[in-house]
Amino acid sequence: MQTSGWSSARTLCADLDASPTPYHAVTRAIEHLDAAGFHEATETWETQNPAGRWYFRDGGALVAWVVSADHHASSPFRVVGAHTDSPNLRIKPVPDLESAGLSQLGVEVYGGALTNSWLDRDLGLAGRVVAVEAGEPRTFLFRDNRPILRVPQLAIHLDEDFRRSGLNLNRQRHLVPVWSTGSAPTFTQYLADQLSLDPEAVLSWDAMAFDLTPATLAGLNEEFLVSARIDNQLSCFVALRSLVQVADEPGPSIPVVALFDHEEVGSVSTTGAASPFLRRQLERIWRVLGASAADVYQSCAKSLVVSADGAHATHPNYPERHDPEHTVELNGGPVLKVNANQRYATDATTAARFELACRRAEVPMQRFVSRGDVACGSTIGPAAAGELGIAVVDAGIAQLAMHSAREMAGADDPQRFADVLRVLLGQ
Ligand code: ZN
Repeated sequence: MQTSGWSSARTLCADLDASPTPYHAVTRAIEHLDAAGFHEATETWETQNPAGRWYFRDGGALVAWVVSADHHASSPFRVVGAHTDSPNLRIKPVPDLESAGLSQLGVEVYGGALTNSWLDRDLGLAGRVVAVEAGEPRTFLFRDNRPILRVPQLAIHLDEDFRRSGLNLNRQRHLVPVWSTGSAPTFTQYLADQLSLDPEAVLSWDAMAFDLTPATLAGLNEEFLVSARIDNQLSCFVALRSLVQVADEPGPSIPVVALFDHEEVGSVSTTGAASPFLRRQLERIWRVLGASAADVYQSCAKSLVVSADGAHATHPNYPERHDPEHTVELNGGPVLKVNANQRYATDATTAARFELACRRAEVPMQRFVSRGDVACGSTIGPAAAGELGIAVVDAGIAQLAMHSAREMAGADDPQRFADVLRVLLGQ
């Protein structure tokens, strides 16, 4: 049955549809935060009263936190971390191509995309453009919701390999979208038209294709949530709304949500989890609370990071790819993720804290570990643990088709995960 809470699957569909890129996801997040009375912590934040609701943004990354009058220099943090980026097709710096009388745009594959899922879809274009204004670079967001890009699959009659060995896609040659029959403008001209700028002013872009099909509830009884970017924008918006709820009554810890970029390519960037991005914001908070070195050590020792990211549900058509003792079901509740080789940062102590939170929230919990002969993915968890020196638990919502252009999860699981995150953020 559908829950009617603030993180009901239908509400989350609107968030996912509003977020074709990491930059749009952060913009959407800030809309929610603004509505809940959060303010931007600018460079002068340190001179203000630290108590209140705050956020700091950098491109496709965001940190939001709540400091109450009861918090002090050695208060621990409760951080929920997630990532705004998803595998997709990104426009190259010199993208204008022509072949067989068609205009095309050169793309790079970003992250571990299931490239077949981008074929024969109606694709829009979105991202950010940097243009010069009065001698200075200025960043603009853009989003074109028309189905202007398309990657047509090769007809089966022309693909001898297809029956023998299935579909084989070359990431340089076979994923180049078409967008016109010849007389297309240059990509720079197109961007200038989108933003009403002089083409000479357009300097650079982070532009990417996105599937135009809206997120939806699916299945016989609408028990599935189907959308692009479930990994990991679903965690982002569930985490944010849990923070907004906790903000009314923060507990003894300082609740924080950190949304990072670039997880799908290893988290090493200025806005990734392996950067000082989050640590610098925590250091600002310690500074305004007057923390000494001893306070910082005490705070870290009692703090916890929840690395919130998609978990693999057991695939009904490939059950042999999963560990038989660790079946994970859609709509089976939040999933605790464990990997002895630290691809997930969970250990026995953080696993126990997560399980106790599930009990307090009265939601069922599942456990994931990958088969010994199948490599598992990773998350922001290990990077955050290494960067912060704070205990981490990896957990998330079960899903199928991870890294497809269109993924699926259970429609009931977001609310349950939100209930657990609310308990953890409020402790
Ligand atoms: Zn992920």
